Amino acid sequence: MINPICARVISTIPRTYNVKSIRVAIDGAIDFKAGQFLRVKLNNDDNLQRYLSISSSPTEKGYLEFTKKITDSDFSSALSILKPGDMVSIEYPYGAFTLERSVERIAFISGGIGITPIRSMCKFAVDKNLNLDIVLLYANNSVKDIAFREDFEKMQAEYGNLHVTHVLCEKDMEFSCVVGRINADIIKKEVPDYLGRFFFLCGPPAMVEAMKGLLTKELEVPLGNIITENFQGY
Ligand SMILES: Cc1cc2nc3c(=O)[nH]c(=O)nc-3n(C[C@H](O)[C@H](O)[C@H](O)COP(=O)(O)OP(=O)(O)OC[C@H]3O[C@@H](n4cnc5c(N)ncnc54)[C@H](O)[C@@H]3O)c2cc1C
Repeated sequence: MINPICARVISTIPRTYNVKSIRVAIDGAIDFKAGQFLRVKLNNDDNLQRYLSISSSPTEKGYLEFTKKITDSDFSSALSILKPGDMVSIEYPYGAFTLERSVERIAFISGGIGITPIRSMCKFAVDKNLNLDIVLLYANNSVKDIAFREDFEKMQAEYGNLHVTHVLCEKDMEFSCVVGRINADIIKKEVPDYLGRFFFLCGPPAMVEAMKGLLTKELEVPLGNIITENFQGY
């Protein structure tokens, strides 16, 4: 049983036109593993609580960050008006979608807001200079939907072993990307050593299921080389 604790909002950061990060501070040590999630409750209202992945890394000291796709829900409305000084209640850490396994070559596949725990794990790998080889296939509708874009560009520049491929539905002449939806051909081309990698899949349940089916059935990736995080609710 994890007890709820009070957390103070210290900043809010727009990531895209409909994605927002909230940074909170708590009393005492902040202890979690990159990739884990929390439960946040707003306005002390049981109807205003959601599970959200922690988008910051344990190497980023002094705050916890979570990042929400803003929808027309009451929860999104309450979250989008949070300001520094406001209090929220959080329970953490939850989950086993983490780097705590003995793998060196990793492929992350993410759709939309499913990037949040992956951002945490990549930042952790970069800051700790972990001996990992990471590829990320990050699917979005268009360039304007890419959350943490500059962040990933900085991480790629800093850490030689991170390669990000953006897969977009809409073509953009000024942006280097693969156009289409992630399929077996795209994985074979962008991750040619896919049979030697451990896959982390995160996003809306339908996307995660589709990717898992594609990897196991079309590409014969063993189920034991795949871990998933489903963002129930999308
Ligand atoms: C482990 C985990 C990590 C997540 N991380 C993130 C994140 O980092 N960022 C992010 O934006 N979202 C994340 N989600 C999804 C998030 O919890 C919300 O479900 C989602 O954001 C939709 O909430 P909403 O208020 O926008 O929409 P709503 O309109 O309230 O929800 C849409 C529909 O989903 C249903 N629903 C809401 N929550 C759940 C649930 N837990 N299980 C089943 N059905 C549900 C609602 O009843 C409604 O029918 C995560 C979910 C899980 C389980």
